[in-house]
Amino acid sequence: MHWADALATSVSGPHAANDSKTPSGTVHVGSLRGPVILDVIVRALRANGTQTSYLYGVDDMDPMDAQALLTPDAVDRYMGVPLARVPDQEADGHASYARHHAQAFIDTFAGLGIRPDRYYWMSDIYPTGDLDPYIRIALDRAAVVREIYRRVANVRHPETWHPISVVCENCGRVGTTIVTKWDGERVYYECRPDLVTWAKGCGHSGWVSPFRGAAKLPWNVEWAAQWSLLGVTIEPCGKDLSTAGGSRERSDAIAREVFEREPPINVPYEFLNIGGRKMSTSKGRGAAAHEIVDVVPPEQIRFLFVRQQPNQVIAFDPEGTDVIPRLFDEFARFADATAGKDVRGDMPPGFDRVFRYSLLSPEADADTEAAAFRPAFGHLALLVQSPGIDLRARIEAEKESALTARELEILASRAAAARAWLEAYAPESARIVVRREAVPTEAADLHQDQRRFLASLAQRLSDGRPDSGDAWQSLIFDIARAGDVPPRRAFEAIYLAFLGRPNGPRAGWLLASLDRGFVRERAWEASGWTAAGPPERLPVGG
Ligand SMILES: [Zn+2]
Ligand SMILES: [Zn+2]
Repeated sequence: MHWADALATSVSGPHAANDSKTPSGTVHVGSLRGPVILDVIVRALRANGTQTSYLYGVDDMDPMDAQALLTPDAVDRYMGVPLARVPDQEADGHASYARHHAQAFIDTFAGLGIRPDRYYWMSDIYPTGDLDPYIRIALDRAAVVREIYRRVANVRHPETWHPISVVCENCGRVGTTIVTKWDGERVYYECRPDLVTWAKGCGHSGWVSPFRGAAKLPWNVEWAAQWSLLGVTIEPCGKDLSTAGGSRERSDAIAREVFEREPPINVPYEFLNIGGRKMSTSKGRGAAAHEIVDVVPPEQIRFLFVRQQPNQVIAFDPEGTDVIPRLFDEFARFADATAGKDVRGDMPPGFDRVFRYSLLSPEADADTEAAAFRPAFGHLALLVQSPGIDLRARIEAEKESALTARELEILASRAAAARAWLEAYAPESARIVVRREAVPTEAADLHQDQRRFLASLAQRLSDGRPDSGDAWQSLIFDIARAGDVPPRRAFEAIYLAFLGRPNGPRAGWLLASLDRGFVRERAWEASGWTAAGPPERLPVGG
């Protein structure tokens, strides 16, 4: 059984699934794992008849703490200020820094078919007063909160420390304030220049009511308060937060002991590793989610996360590797298996559910989707580099029937992905480059029959040139047949002589894209023949 189905059948409803994120900067592709996992859990619960809501929070009252992400003149002014109150650093019309960055991940989620029922913004919730009851409880039980930090995480706050951060009335910072007294209605706070290293408080102090947006709870307390306020019952969380003594364990304890509520079910999930290597920036691409999403269509991205158990590390290193082509081909294999076709290798349990959960829409007709024809990615990557090719005709010939409207969409999507992959990530070996300067050294491996074929080709070209790719293709077949050379070996000879590799795009179209004189000279040269005939001494294998 698929892991999400196993979870769905083990619980009874209704459920509220939640995740939240600090909108602090670019979304790394690995940070899509949590939202995809949660989306699949929600789909599994709903498929099981469980009423489920999907909530996503934007923790935009968190303080700005990354200097590198601010423009230089904004650093002094905005470090420590709630992200919702930092101006957008780019002049593209967002109300704040937080809205700018949150929009990037909301857009990315939507593109992956992840559509929470509700996005909530902490900067909207605090001023409503909805969190005030939890702020009051946390302050009344400050000693319990301090004891939890000490017991669970070995963090010792002073006896005067209270679990709330006031937004300084003077400088607007929230990351620099500490509350040391609570009289039941107001707190006493100080905005300290040296409370944190990354932001400098203004020195202001005073008594203030902590309610209705004047203050924010520290992250672990805020998380537990979100669960109570929103009735959250399921919230997966990354391994970095799920460790012993980590953030999740603290919030779980605060939920139980301070707000007296059982914390949500956790589904801890592992990281996605981008290999040991730093992503190259030279090609203008990195590990940012929106960049990967530009190359890899959404169903393959979902598949990347859905096919693995949450507790398994995913290695994903697209730069200069065939990781992306393999992802496409694996997806096609899962589709074929779901459609009941024979596939190589064993399929994991629940493979058809993996395929279904990878689809963009939960309402998609999975059987029709699975049965659709998907050209192999590596083949497409060659074809899209072939001059003058009719991609549709070529793929229809491969399928041996016309493509359906949906299959045409899949072809367009895969062809675009192949082009983007070649542009951004592909290893050099995947790129077709005509070796114009000299006969490739790889052509030294040509056998006698292949050399004879190339010599015949050069001789025939003295009489004029074919004008279309198809005409070239016929010529190649004619010469091969006349010389009793299997067509496969004739094509290999062309690829080695022109590309320095044993395979390539459709040979007729490759030659049609080149100057005839060049083709003739190169074929002759690579054949090793002279006016007197074949070379006397043949290289190895001849
Ligand atoms: Zn913006
Ligand atoms: Zn201040």
